[in-house]
Amino acid sequence: MAHEAAVASGPTKLVVRNIGLLLSGALENPILDADTIVAENGRITAIGKFKDLDTEHATTIVDAHGCVMAPGLIDSHVHPVAGDWTPRQSQLNWIDSSLHGGVTTMISAGEVHQPGRPRDIVGLKAHAITAQRTFDNFRCSGVKLHAGAPVLEPGMTEQDFKDLAEAGVKLLGEVGLGGVKDGANAKQMVAWARKYGIQSTIHTGGPSIPGSGLIGADVVLEADTDVVGHINGGHTALPDKEIRCICEGCGRGLELVHNGNERSALFTLRTARDMAQLERVILGTDSPAGSGVQPLGIIRMVSMLSSLGDVPAEQAFCFATGNTARMRALDTGLIEVGRAADFVFMDRAQHSAGATFLGSVRLGDLPGIGMTIIDGVVRTGRSRNTPPAEKVPEIIAG
Ligand SMILES: [Zn+2]
Repeated sequence: MAHEAAVASGPTKLVVRNIGLLLSGALENPILDADTIVAENGRITAIGKFKDLDTEHATTIVDAHGCVMAPGLIDSHVHPVAGDWTPRQSQLNWIDSSLHGGVTTMISAGEVHQPGRPRDIVGLKAHAITAQRTFDNFRCSGVKLHAGAPVLEPGMTEQDFKDLAEAGVKLLGEVGLGGVKDGANAKQMVAWARKYGIQSTIHTGGPSIPGSGLIGADVVLEADTDVVGHINGGHTALPDKEIRCICEGCGRGLELVHNGNERSALFTLRTARDMAQLERVILGTDSPAGSGVQPLGIIRMVSMLSSLGDVPAEQAFCFATGNTARMRALDTGLIEVGRAADFVFMDRAQHSAGATFLGSVRLGDLPGIGMTIIDGVVRTGRSRNTPPAEKVPEIIAG
């Protein structure tokens, strides 16, 4: 697909009909009783039964042919550098490959793989602003990548956070990846960031690669970031008792990543469930990472948590959609009127032992992806990366 932002040439109206199962992304009501969605100019305008909705004058009609439709998946933890290239594994088109894994939105946890990344304060601010601008100006394959996430260095003042916010920066990179690794300094800077509307996350657990460090429960709780970044480590996780201490000691987001410890992810999931706080669980990949780029990382996490963590598949999808959207104040991730028309179409993978789509995910199989839509524009057809879906949607007009 082309590497450009979606540019509508006039009013658009997308009608998606014959949806077999509609996943809402909302944990409190994960399945909607509807077979049709209408989106005008990239926003959802109606959800319901085909016979009840105004589907006239569509500019694009998609027949879902009974497929499952869900909000486009959100990867809460990526490390982009420049367009669709990463030096981490010297790889091209990793974002496009992730779109083939159903991901339509990504959140940067810091552009830390930039060769020669500036660590002086004016340099790191300029770098973050540049990353915010470049990924906003140029969407790789249409994927919405929220970038521009500076990493804290000693000496930053309140004015620096004010400057960053005024320049359009809305995120902090993982606390602990830069020179600020102690709780007291992190807490002060995170509070300044929050004051100016900048969201924060932290590197939890042992060092990821040579040069990064250990961040334990005491520092995580003192820093009080909005998201507890990869609470299951990246890949080295904290002891279970420290993970429990974090879950119980704050009300912040609990991010589980693919490039982390799977057993610790399941421990965190069970702890959150015991606390009746599954709305805190969000998913990321940490791509590109030492373990590589994981185009199917988010659906692999959904399937792993559903099958081994005994979570209904329709709830596990909320960890990668509505939970993240709400926590990060995104206008996507939920099937609701007014939200961005960002969708993924899936079906049971061919020859899965599961009797239904939801049953196949619950058994640990991956879904087959048949189409993605971003801002009401069809971006991909049958995924080149997932096992083939039994059914795929079809564009029948437009
Ligand atoms: Zn990290």
